[in-house]
Amino acid sequence: MKVVIIGGGTAGIGVATGLRRQDENAEIVVLEKSDEFAVARPGLTDYLSGKITDAEQLQGATIEQMAEIFKIAVKPGHEVVNLDRKKKQLIIEGHEPETYDKLVLATGALTLRPDIPGILGDNIFTISNFRSVQKIRDYYLGTGAQKVLILGGGEIGIATAEACQKLGAKVTVIEAQSHILPYFDEDMTALLQNHLRDSGIKLFTNTLVTRFDEDTADLDNGSTIDYDLAIICTGVKPDVKLPVMADLDLGVSGGLWVNSFLQTNDKDIYACGDNIEVVSLVTGEAFRWPSAALSLKEARVVAANLAGKNREFSPIAGTSLVRAAGYYAVLCGASEHDLQSLGIGYRCVHLLQKDHDCYLPGGNQMILKLLFTPEGKILGAQGIGKSGIDKRIDVIAEIIRKGGTYLDLLEAEIAYGPEDAAAKDAVNNLGALAAGVVNGETRYVYINTLDWCKVGNEIMLIDTRSPQLFKAGHIAHAVNIPLKTLRDNLGSIPRDRQVVLYCGHGYGAYNAYCLLNQRGYDNVYLLSGSMDLYMEIMLNEIYNEHAAESMEEVWNRLQYANDDDITVQ
Ligand SMILES: Cc1cc2nc3c(=O)[nH]c(=O)nc-3n(C[C@H](O)[C@H](O)[C@H](O)COP(=O)(O)OP(=O)(O)OC[C@H]3O[C@@H](n4cnc5c(N)ncnc54)[C@H](O)[C@@H]3O)c2cc1C
Repeated sequence: MKVVIIGGGTAGIGVATGLRRQDENAEIVVLEKSDEFAVARPGLTDYLSGKITDAEQLQGATIEQMAEIFKIAVKPGHEVVNLDRKKKQLIIEGHEPETYDKLVLATGALTLRPDIPGILGDNIFTISNFRSVQKIRDYYLGTGAQKVLILGGGEIGIATAEACQKLGAKVTVIEAQSHILPYFDEDMTALLQNHLRDSGIKLFTNTLVTRFDEDTADLDNGSTIDYDLAIICTGVKPDVKLPVMADLDLGVSGGLWVNSFLQTNDKDIYACGDNIEVVSLVTGEAFRWPSAALSLKEARVVAANLAGKNREFSPIAGTSLVRAAGYYAVLCGASEHDLQSLGIGYRCVHLLQKDHDCYLPGGNQMILKLLFTPEGKILGAQGIGKSGIDKRIDVIAEIIRKGGTYLDLLEAEIAYGPEDAAAKDAVNNLGALAAGVVNGETRYVYINTLDWCKVGNEIMLIDTRSPQLFKAGHIAHAVNIPLKTLRDNLGSIPRDRQVVLYCGHGYGAYNAYCLLNQRGYDNVYLLSGSMDLYMEIMLNEIYNEHAAESMEEVWNRLQYANDDDITVQ
């Protein structure tokens, strides 16, 4: 059997080596259009920043090693320009045609350059492979460039921004959407945006570049910014040129359609990697999820099927991890935005908790958000923090994959040691918060949807922290009734209008809620995420509106009070 693989990237090389491990006799040929193959693309930003100095560290294997160790013929500089399915023949630019018994399309994705006047300038780059990064480094170091403009605040844009900052550049990120990292929800990215800005990166959201000139870019808000070098990170789209020419089916999302065996509608043609669409096990929808890790999982399934094993690829939860400004943003499953746009009913809780036991000094706060059906089936989770986030989200991703509920979160066994986890771990606590919602015991309001104009009149906002903390700063128009004086002050709490409780990170307010609930208050709600999340969201909003202002001005504009509201002792 002769297997030809088009594309020598993550998926293509994964299929080739995986197949060889299962079939010593297959003839395996990899055709790659560029002069690069088996490059670890997620490491490209580390090469850009200078963290990786030797490009060979990013290279999986050489052509010679592929031939000697795996008996695989890798042919760089071989671009397949057409495919004759009847003859099972590939037309290759500048080379003899190649025939196949089984074909694998692993052509990846194309980097997009939006149609903006001036975008093809010599100092405007994209980042897709080793050569493209080398060009950026050469230009930056060779011209003494200082100001780098990144167009697009997705995962690659943010990783690239951080890499450029490490190189010493002054970095500006322009994002067209309301927030960076579009897989995440806006309330969760607020904290990351604040930290990116604090780290010195200028960030404009809800902003479009309308024109590039040699060293300035016009923005749709009427302003102009200077730049020496721009990097376009506005996303990728599946490279489906060959399948379209060969009349293979595309899916609803624009990726190549494959069945659960990763076969196209031609049984002799398989496909894997960023060019295909996959199915979300949360929403049941076909979608695209470009990821090196996912591409390798798909490659393993294709290799097994080529070797005659009937292996299926399951729908995915979808996981994503980005590191920026010393923080991790990690996600699994659907976002609130996804659920809203698909009309899927959901409930939501936020949890703010340290990444290790609270009695130890130090530790970093994690902000986690859990989405679940009204009956408690887990739909998605997102987390932002300096450490411990990936561990929690990975556990929740597996629970989503098994179709689990809040009960599975409550029962999840998290390895515990005081330095690295909490005895009441965040995963278990998320389960407990969700249980309260599902059972109708806990009611929440949300920072983004609460009608703040009504606070102080129709809505009573109670801060349950100590008078000292309240005096130091609280949400405007709040009344301070400290948790420990609550039982003595029940007369101050109305039963005929909405009462919303908050504290710093939610724990004190939750205890106050339980107390009032047992006293028959059915008009009491918790502010999900409490004051810590409120502060991040408000800071971010002000930053968004006044992106160029100083931190001091931002604080002055914050809807935040220090001594003008009431404390009930
Ligand atoms: C800067 C950067 C950072 C990233 N970081 C992460 C990360 O942190 N985590 C993560 O999961 N993913 C990350 N990714 C994405 C990840 O690299 C991709 O999802 C993965 O490489 C997809 O593998 P693939 O084989 O489908 O495509 P690719 O690896 O892109 O390989 C496709 C190959 O096909 C070749 N090809 C295309 N058409 C033809 C043709 N007609 N003939 C011959 N050859 C052809 C292309 O030249 C290319 O080499 C990152 C990507 C980039 C660019």
